[in-house]
Formats: sequence, C-alpha cells, structure tokens
Amino acid sequence: MLNLVLFGPPGAGKGTQSEFLVKRYSLVHLSTGDLFRFNIKNETELGLLAKSYIDKGALVPDSVTISMLEDAVNKNPDAKGFIFDGFPRTNAQAAALDTFLEGRGTSITSMIALEVAEEELKVRLLERGKTSGRADDADPAVIQNRINTYNKETAPVKDFYDGQGKYRGVDGVGSIEEITERLVAVIESL
Ligand code: AMP
Repeated sequence: MLNLVLFGPPGAGKGTQSEFLVKRYSLVHLSTGDLFRFNIKNETELGLLAKSYIDKGALVPDSVTISMLEDAVNKNPDAKGFIFDGFPRTNAQAAALDTFLEGRGTSITSMIALEVAEEELKVRLLERGKTSGRADDADPAVIQNRINTYNKETAPVKDFYDGQGKYRGVDGVGSIEEITERLVAVIESL
C-alpha cells in the first residue's frame, strides 16, 4: 500500500494537490477537515462539537478526531492506499495512526510536507475565503489562530516522521502544476 501523509500549514495547498495525487495513484483521499465539514453540514452530534473548535481556529480533541479517521479508513477496505490530508495534526494522532495501521498490517510510507512561508499563507487563506464559504478562512483573527495552532501543536509532528526517516519536504510555492511535479518526483523516489 502507498499511504501518504500530506502535511503543511493551513493554506499550503494540501487539498488541491491531494486531488491530483489520488487520481494519479488511485488512492483514497481522507481529509479530516472535509469530514468535519460534512458532519457540520448534516448537523450531526460530531459536527456540532467540531464546529465549536473549528470556528475558533483550534484543534478538535484527539479522541474524537482519531476515531472519526479510523472509521473512515475502515469504510474503505479495498483501498490501494490513502492520502491523509490534515491528519495527523498532533503527535498523539500520529502515534495512534501508527498503531491503527500496524493492526491492519500496513504503515505510513512517507510524510510529504508542502513548505510555504507564513505571510504567503495569510494572503492565500484570505483569498480562498472569498469563495470557499468557510468562515474560518474569512476572519484574519481565526486565520492567525490556525497558524499559531499549527506552529505549536502540529509542526512537531514533522519530527515524529523525521525520526522514522519518512519526512520529505517540498517547496509549496509555484504554480499548481509545478508543485504537483515536485510531489510526484518525491513519490517516485520512495
Ligand atoms: P482543514 O480543512 O484541514 O484546514 O481543517 C479545518 C479545521 O478542522 C481545523 O482548523 C481544525 O479545527 C479541524 N481539524 C481538521 N483536522 C484536524 C485534526 N487532524 N485534528 C484536530 N482538528 C482538526
């Protein structure tokens, strides 16, 4: 199986690049942000809980996020592999994912990070907010909170995979096609 963690701060282009990669490598795309938004739209109990965190730019608690992600993996027993987009966002999530995949006889192949400077992220997120319909993209204070949360809680996950020799960084600035090519080059080298 090819199991990739597509990593990077909010606005780095994880969702956009995932769309290309799932087609090219016939993978299943699992975005925890998308799963939460689906639950919010359908007004489920999980959605209601998640919304209170997402609206502030904070992380949804690990226990809730991990079990949602595991359910989503379990719903795809025939998958050739997965792209995890926006997960794991804490070291506890990364450790839980390792244990879960091990139980299924598989593992993370690599974490590939899209590297983009903070000022560029803010510009991109505000621009995306004009059309995404996402409240968390429209408010500069929430955007700043999401970036701060990333720096404090999520950035250390890089070291988790680096310690396993699985971390690969890619320059996330350029045209969509250029960045896809960089990602493909890394995947082909795995
Ligand atoms: P995203 O679409 O990946 O930018 O996620 C939107 C929001 O959903 C984040 O700002 C978090 O509030 C929440 N979220 C998404 N993925 C996770 C995760 N793995 N752990 C905790 N919260 C998450």
